[in-house]
Amino acid sequence: MPIDAKAPYDPANIFARIIRGELPNRTVLETEHSLAFHDINPLAPIHVLVIPKGNYVSWDDFTEKASEAEITDFVRAVGQVARMTGADAQGYRLLSNVGKRGGQEVPHLHVHVFGGQPLGPMLA
Ligand code: IMP
Repeated sequence: MPIDAKAPYDPANIFARIIRGELPNRTVLETEHSLAFHDINPLAPIHVLVIPKGNYVSWDDFTEKASEAEITDFVRAVGQVARMTGADAQGYRLLSNVGKRGGQEVPHLHVHVFGGQPLGPMLA
């Protein structure tokens, strides 16, 4: 069920619990401000989620409230994941669903990194 991205941050959401170490994850990369882990239900051979560690729901929320250091770290993490997974070799796709119309299910900002196969016109 897509979430309301303007609702207050819910600290009980799945990704918040992963950040706090309450739920397991298959970590690809952890930096000071970001975490990347394999999607539990992969839609491509490479399907990694990159999230900021701070409590942000959407891009508008993140870019309004996050520090320059957090934003830089997050953007760099996305590129690092593309390199670390080998997705960069033949190309990849970034996707970020936001809010009800964007089809966002988990109310913590995340970027999907898809790769490892030709991706067609749309995915997720
Ligand atoms: P959204 O539709 O962009 O919000 O995508 C949420 C993504 O989180 C989906 O692709 C889910 O498969 C993924 N997901 C949900 N729970 C977990 C988890 O515990 N670990 C890893 N990925 C998860």
